[in-house]
Amino acid sequence: MDCRDKNCPEHGELATRGATILGRVVSDKMQKTVTVKAEYTVKVPKYQRYKRKHSKIKAHKPDCIDVKIGDMVQIAECRPLSKTVHFAVIKKVTAADALKEKAMPVEVERPGAQPKKKSQSTEPKLEPKEKPKKEPEAETKEE
Ligand SMILES: [Zn+2]
Repeated sequence: MDCRDKNCPEHGELATRGATILGRVVSDKMQKTVTVKAEYTVKVPKYQRYKRKHSKIKAHKPDCIDVKIGDMVQIAECRPLSKTVHFAVIKKVTAADALKEKAMPVEVERPGAQPKKKSQSTEPKLEPKEKPKKEPEAETKEE
């Protein structure tokens, strides 16, 4: 297919770096941009369980990739293409691919990033759990 999109990660000049995310297209109304919903889980320490969260990411859709609402896509982080677009669709993921890879909903690859240091103090801080005293405002409205 003839692809003349200069912002195509494959045929154009757009370089991708940073995160690669797997998501589902939830909007294809824009001409060269799709909205991708990525689901991920966040651990809730209090209950030792995971909470499902999602984010909507706008991604540039190159001419050579035809995706519609409901399609799974792989998007890669790139330079900001507009105020809200800093991802580009790199491929359409079929159900077979997704099964094969068994990928997590969100794959974040940050080669340059260093792992966060866990700074855990050995002694738990004993903070007084006193609610700030809010005295009811003495308002006596006499009419
Ligand atoms: Zn292309």
